[in-house]
Amino acid sequence: ATGLMAGKRGIIMGVANNRSIAWGIAKAIHDQGGEVALTYQGDALKKRVEPLAAEINAVLAGHCDVSDEATIDAVFADLEKRWGKIDFFVHAIGFSDKDELTGRYIDTSADNFAKTMQISVYSFTSVARRAEKLMTEGGSMLTLTYYGAEKVMPNYNVMGVAKAALEASVKYLAVDLGPKNIRVNAISAGPIKTLAASGIGDFRYILKWNEYNAPLRRTVTIEEVGDVGLYLLSDLSRSVTGEVHHADSGYHVVGMKAVDAPDI
Ligand code: NAD
Repeated sequence: ATGLMAGKRGIIMGVANNRSIAWGIAKAIHDQGGEVALTYQGDALKKRVEPLAAEINAVLAGHCDVSDEATIDAVFADLEKRWGKIDFFVHAIGFSDKDELTGRYIDTSADNFAKTMQISVYSFTSVARRAEKLMTEGGSMLTLTYYGAEKVMPNYNVMGVAKAALEASVKYLAVDLGPKNIRVNAISAGPIKTLAASGIGDFRYILKWNEYNAPLRRTVTIEEVGDVGLYLLSDLSRSVTGEVHHADSGYHVVGMKAVDAPDI
């Protein structure tokens, strides 16, 4: 194979369907000659992920629920047997109770706070520890975050607090793994209509607001985020680690509503 990812193999967690950000990244890697292993969460998603894996000749690496560590170990035991080493790991996983992605942050329950942190934050560190063992010749790890970590976004609530912790994890992991030439970065993606996003209150309003006010006057696609992922997973970004890279049509630099923005 030729391309930026030729000779590289890795695992991508978080494909639920063909609208998933993880799928945009998987396609970009495959297009550049990389070999991908995909996990899925449960049998319901297996049916959706199986044909997608076939489309890009990806390995179906099995069921993985990050709240069940045994399923992570099983996937990595299989990967070690199959490939021995890996070069990249993508974490595109987030979860919070839909009922708490609306209203006030102050009403977050202890249970959902813990669950949101476990699945959306700790899982990156937990899987990174397994991935490190297989990155014997260096590597690149990538997670997905959102501007709600930096600024308060309506309804994002506990997920914003989790993303802030995830972004801090990226920096700590980058320092832990740098001596092994393993890089750790995040993409802060602009809003995209995915399964996970449909749980966030008034999401259509957020999309429109971004479209009208981002410097590029449009929202981003999974293919565009995929290309940024390609850069961060390939050797093009070999000097970059601990970074949170915005792929949001520039929205994060804006301080006020655009003068030409229509009312929503
Ligand atoms: P998605 O619904 O397609 O993907 C979310 C994935 O998380 C699914 O594949 C789901 O199976 C997985 N997941 C949830 N709980 C899990 C668990 N316990 N174990 C294993 N997997 C689990 O939605 P998406 O928008 O592509 O989300 C991917 C990532 O991108 C998330 O971290 C999300 O917060 C982030 N993100 C999304 C947006 C957006 O607007 N869509 C913007 C910025 C960041």
